[in-house]
Order: sequence, then C-alpha cells, then structure tokens
Amino acid sequence: MSASVRGDDTAQRLFAGEGELRARCRAFDWTTTVLGSVEEWPPSLRTTASTVVAMGFPAILLWGPQFVQIYNDAYKPFLGSKHPAALGSSSRECWSEIWPLVEPVLHRVQTGETVTLGDQYYPLLRQGPAVPHDDVYITLSYVPVRDEGGGVSGILITGFDTTSQVEAHGLEKKRQALEVDTSRAELRAASVLERMADAHATLDSEFRFLTVNPAALRAVDKTLEEMVGRTHWEVFPASLDMEIAPAYRRIVAEGVVAHFKQHYVGDGYDVHLDLDAYPTDEGGVAIFWRDVSEHVRTEAALAASEALFRTVQDVSPHGVVLMHPMREDDRPDGGIVDFRLTYANPAAGRLGGREPTDMVGRGLVEMFPATRQYGLFEGYQRVAETGEVFETDLMYQADGLDYGLGITAVRVGDDVALTTADITARLRAETESRELFKALDLERTRLAEVFRQSPSFFAVLRGPDHVFELANDAYYQLIGRREIIGKPAFEALPELRGKGFEGRLHHVLATGEPFVGRELPITVARTWGALPEERFVDVTYLPFIERDGTRGGVIFHGADVTARVRARLEIERLLAESEKARADAEAARAEAEAANRTKSEFLATISHEYRTPLNAIGGYAELIEIGVHGPVTPEQRTALDRIQRSQRHLLGLINGVLNYAKVDAGAVLYNSERVLLDEAVATCEALSAPQARAKRLSLRFTGCDPRLAARADREKVQQVVLNLLSNAIKFTAPGGSVDVQCVRVGDSQVAVHVSDTGLGIAAEQMERVFQPFVQIDAGLTRTQEGTGLGLAISRDLARGMNGDLKVESVEGQGSTFTITLLRWSD
Ligand code: ADP
Repeated sequence: MSASVRGDDTAQRLFAGEGELRARCRAFDWTTTVLGSVEEWPPSLRTTASTVVAMGFPAILLWGPQFVQIYNDAYKPFLGSKHPAALGSSSRECWSEIWPLVEPVLHRVQTGETVTLGDQYYPLLRQGPAVPHDDVYITLSYVPVRDEGGGVSGILITGFDTTSQVEAHGLEKKRQALEVDTSRAELRAASVLERMADAHATLDSEFRFLTVNPAALRAVDKTLEEMVGRTHWEVFPASLDMEIAPAYRRIVAEGVVAHFKQHYVGDGYDVHLDLDAYPTDEGGVAIFWRDVSEHVRTEAALAASEALFRTVQDVSPHGVVLMHPMREDDRPDGGIVDFRLTYANPAAGRLGGREPTDMVGRGLVEMFPATRQYGLFEGYQRVAETGEVFETDLMYQADGLDYGLGITAVRVGDDVALTTADITARLRAETESRELFKALDLERTRLAEVFRQSPSFFAVLRGPDHVFELANDAYYQLIGRREIIGKPAFEALPELRGKGFEGRLHHVLATGEPFVGRELPITVARTWGALPEERFVDVTYLPFIERDGTRGGVIFHGADVTARVRARLEIERLLAESEKARADAEAARAEAEAANRTKSEFLATISHEYRTPLNAIGGYAELIEIGVHGPVTPEQRTALDRIQRSQRHLLGLINGVLNYAKVDAGAVLYNSERVLLDEAVATCEALSAPQARAKRLSLRFTGCDPRLAARADREKVQQVVLNLLSNAIKFTAPGGSVDVQCVRVGDSQVAVHVSDTGLGIAAEQMERVFQPFVQIDAGLTRTQEGTGLGLAISRDLARGMNGDLKVESVEGQGSTFTITLLRWSD
C-alpha cells in the first residue's frame, strides 16, 4: 500500500462531512504541497485543519513557513475568483495585493501573540487582476496554533466582512466632505496634472484638444497654440491610420477605458508610448501617456541579453545549474536538506546523464546521492548560509579512467549557482607532469648516487671565492674527509695555496675555457692533521653556466691516478733495469764468445803444435821396432808397443780436439753437394770391416736405393758415419752385430741408421753422450779408448748440414744412432 493511498484514507476521515471545502480537502493531493501527505501531518495540523473546515464562520488556517492555506466554505467570499486555487497555496502568493498589510501581523502572531483587528481595510482583487479592487473592511482575529514541539506552526484567522457597516457609517460623512472638497480637489487635480511627469491631454467629443500639460507639449515638441482647439488628426495626421483612432472612437461611443501601447516611427523620431485613455464626463477622452522607449529598449536589450545568456549557456562546455535550498520542514530557519534545481544547461545535463528538463524541479542529492560523498553538499550548504564562494577540484573515476571536475558555487539571492568545468585534461596533465617530476627526481637521485659513489672525484666551486658547494665521496677521500662545504677552497684546503690552482680556477671562471691536466702532482693531507703527501691527479676544470647565462663557478672533476702513476714509474724503473741486465748479458755473451773463440783458436794451435812431435815419436818408435837401430828384445818390443799405443791415443786425442775446436769455432766449411748415400755408406763399411772382423762382429749393410741422395758434404757425412760405426763396434761385445741402413724420411729428408747389439746407453745418459768430453764409462773401470768428442763433433757436423743426430737405445740390448740429412731432389 502506498503512502498516498493511506494518506487518502486519513484525509477521508479527517475531512469527513458535508460542504464544498470538505470535499475539496478530501480530494486534494496534499503531496503537491510542502505539507505532504495527510498521513504525515502532525496531529496539531490535523486537528486544526479539520476544525477550520468544520467551522461556520469564515476561517482560514495558514501552516508552515510558507503559510499554506486551508479554509472553509464561509471564507470563500473573501477570495472571490481566487477560490478554489487558493486551497493548499501559499498565502503570500494568494494575497500578494495586500501582503504588505498582512505580513507584519503574521510575524507578530508567530511570536505567540493573538492579534485582533477591527474594521480593517483591505483592497481585495477578488475578480482577477484586470478588474479594480474591492474596498473591503474586515474585523478579524489571528490566533497562533502551536505544534507538538510548542512552536507556532500555524495561524488561525477568523473574520467578518464589516464593509457594509463601515460604509453605512462613513458614507454620509464622506459625501459631505467630498462636496466641500470638490472645487478644491478640481483645482488641485489641475495643478497636479500640470506638474505631473506623465503627458496628459483631454479631447472633446470631436477629438479637439481641450487641455495639454507641459509634459505633453515637451513630449510632442509643440506649443499650446498649435494644439488646443485643433483635432487630434490635424495635429497628428499620421494618427488617423493608427490603432488609437478607432480606440478613441470606442472610448467616446462606449465609455470604456483603453490601455494600449503605441510605437510611433516618423521623421526624426522613434518612440514607444504607453497610453491610458479614459472617457471624460464631457463625452470626450482623457489621455495619459509616457514615453517608454527607454524602457522598451532596455527590455529588448534585456531580452536579447537573456537570449544571449541562454545561448551561451546552451553551447557552453561548462555546466551551469541554479538551485534553491530545500529546508527542513520548509521552515526558513530549518537546516538545508537538499537543493531543488531551477535551471540546468545542456552541459550540466550531459554531466548528470539526463535531460536538463528532467533535472529541473528535482533535488540535487536526490538525483545525485554522490554529492554527499565529496563534501560537496556541505560546501553548497555553506554557500547558501554564508554567501562564501565554494570552489573545489573533484577527481573521480569512471570506467577505469580518471576524470576531473572543477566546481564553483556562489550564492545568487537565496539560490546557489553552480558552475562546473571539465578539468580532466588539466588534471591528467598535472598527473603526468607529477609522474614526470617523480621520474626526473628518481633520475636525479640516481645520478646523484652515481656521482656520489663515482670513483672519480667531483666538487663544485661557486663564485669568485670558489666556495665548495658540493663534493662527492671520492673527493672527500682525497682530502682526508675534512669539512669543506660552504668554505672557500683555499681556506678549506690551505696546502693547495701557491701551487698554481688559484690561477687555473680564476682563468677558467674568467674565460670559460676548460682546463685539463694530466697526472698533476698535488700535495694534500689525506687525513685530518696528517702530513701532506704527494698524490697525482688527472683533473678537468669546467665552468658551469647559471640559468641567467653567467658563469657561476667551476666544476672540479678528476681522478686520483697516484696508483697508476706509481705503477708506471715502477714499470719504467724495472724496464730500465732489465734493459741494463740485457745489455750486460749481451756484453757477457760477446765476451764469452770471444773467449771461446780464443780458446778454440788456442786449442787448434796447440793441437797442431803437439802433432808434429807426436808424429816424430811415432816415426822413431817404428824405426826402432823394425830394427833400424839394432835388434830389439821382446821386452823392448813390449815397451815400444806401449809407446806406440800411447802415441796413437794422444794423436787421436789431439786430432779430436783439433776437429772439435774447428767445428766449435765455426771454422768448418761445408760443401753442399749431391751425396749418393749408397756409395758413401759402402765406403765407410769397407773402412770399418777390418775392425769388425777383428772383434768378430757381423757388419751388415742392407744396401739402399742407389738413387737416394742427400744435399750435404760427402766427406763430413762419411766422417760421421765412420764415427758411428767405430762407436758401434767399440761398444759391442764379440759375436754381436752392427747394421747400417739408409732410408728416405718424408719428402724432404733422408736418414742413415747405425744399429748395434752392444752395451746400450742408460736413458738418463742419452742426451749427455752428445756433450763434449762425455764418456759414460769414464772412470777407473774404463775399458774403451776414446776422447768423448766423437758424438759432439758428429752432431755439430750433422746440424751444420741442416740435419741432426739422435740416438735410441735400450741399456744392455744395443743402440741405434740416426743421422738425418736434407734430401737431394732432382
Ligand atoms: P768416445 O767414443 O771417443 O769415448 P764419443 O763421443 O764417440 O767418445 O762417445 C761418447 C760416449 O758415448 C762413449 O764413451 C760411450 O760411453 C758412449 N757410446 C758411444 N757410442 C756408443 C755405442 N754404440 N754403444 C754404447 N755406448 C756408446
């Protein structure tokens, strides 16, 4: 069941009974008034209302701050044509013609006073606004009606029309007074007409001007003589064709009043006139008129400006809303509960998602409950109560996007005017720029961090005194963590004075040219109070430019390169040292070589000198042996044999030394020729065969490709092979064998292998056998003769022919010596 139906029930009961007003009260839709549904009426209102409609005397109840009217059948005559619209309407509007007389009384009653007035005069417009008022006298009583809270919510008025009594009393008196006053009044009227601002003229029944007041003469720019006695049509020929001609005729003919507006346009004039024309007692016309051109033009301008205002509002991107405060219980002192929209432009409609026409007449909060969310409602309330301007920027989200609304509310009269501007773009730009600033800040922080932690040092010196403004960790490290910020450079670091820094700083600041220095020595104290020590720095002095374009100071940037410089100096020192060592070694080597040469030369010389006497010893021993000097005893023969063996050994030794010395001294010349290996080896075999036979060794020559040839010196090849064969025979026990083999090695080499089944050589001795004077079995147990030079010479010779000599051996099983040589290729 809806509230209104319940209300109906209540109304049916409350206004039950006979009579028109009761019926009307029952049928009336009270929800259209501020009183609301009857169901919701307070008991005080219900009781008083039902009493009023039941009363036989004229009575009316005014309820609430708007004085909503409920009256009874007896009251109707006071209302005249205002009934029945007056029911439920505001008394202020209903009785606008006498409101100034009524309102002060109502205010008195609202304070709790009962007011009674006798024969009170009211000019009532009972037949509509077009008909002159009725002079009505009423005796009435205003009674305050208290509500449940004890306050005065209603005013009950009862009254009697006393007009007839008043008139009966006063009529005669008035008539006499009037008679007395008539002539005086006529005079006064004439003078009033003379002085009045409105133009006034009277015409007789023939429309001839009888009187014209000065305002009229001024208005039409004519003299009295030009007008009086002439007809309207003579004076104003154009007026014959105008609306006034038939109007005047009707006034004269029918005695009616006419009121009309006339627009005169003619030579040099363009006027709007407001005319009132009355029939005169003489059967003519009295005309009053005023120039309302100004007013018309102002109105036109106003209309135009209002049209302009509307147009502007219609196309404005800004929302405009006018709204009227809705107060609690409709009381003027009630708190504001909502705002009723009285105007909304299309932009406001778009913002609210409705047609402006759907918004007007409705409550703001009712339509947009969110108004309460952002403190907006409180803001509007303050505007309405205090008149202060309320401005706010509102951010909200819709469909996941940010929007911004700039709202301004101002009070206009009792109303509040609201304008909204879409500031989404601005807010987004602001957000963006905030983000940018944040990013920039982050970047700056990062940069500052990089700068702070950079291994390069960095300091900013401002102004001509080079005051430290900024310095990073590395710089602090360099200067021993002294407090420098805010101090002039040379005060903070006095040890830098007089080292050329001042000059450089001044120069950079004065000229703007940067300075770059490499490995500059500086002397700074590295810890507070410590003795200054020498450091090396790479530095750059850069001028920095202020925003106004001037040079603000110097950025001092660089790196402590002490370690690098010291390392470099150390390297240079070491290099110098090693260079000297190399030179020394070179000199020593040259010296040694020279000594070696001298030694070899010496050896060659003495060997040669030894050979001659040794040959003589051998020769003479042989002569003795063959008996040239007489018979030789067996004992002598034994001694001679020993002499000869020693002589041969010594001679061999000396020959070996001589050979080695020659080879070692580089005094050997090599012939590079085609050496057929088969031939060369066969010769050697032939020479060694007797030796092998003597030791009962089998000497085998496998024979080789007769075309196999070496690029070498034949004699030297044979010398080497002979030496190898001699060793093999020497170090192989009787019954063993010695093999000789020639082979081709790859494309470019040939080799001769000399293998035996003899003693062999221990692995650790294998390289040593090529050293001069090395004999493995040297010592007291030595069984074989030799010099220890054979292999040394042989290898030198092989190498001298771009070949080599190597050995492979297993101790106790035998050895294989291999000489490699370059192959002769045809
Ligand atoms: P020499 O034969 O005059 O002593 P070498 O330089 O020819 O001097 O030889 C050096 C040493 O190498 C020899 O004393 C010997 O001990 C060892 N040697 C050389 N050839 C052989 C071989 N075929 N078998 C075993 N040992 C050898």
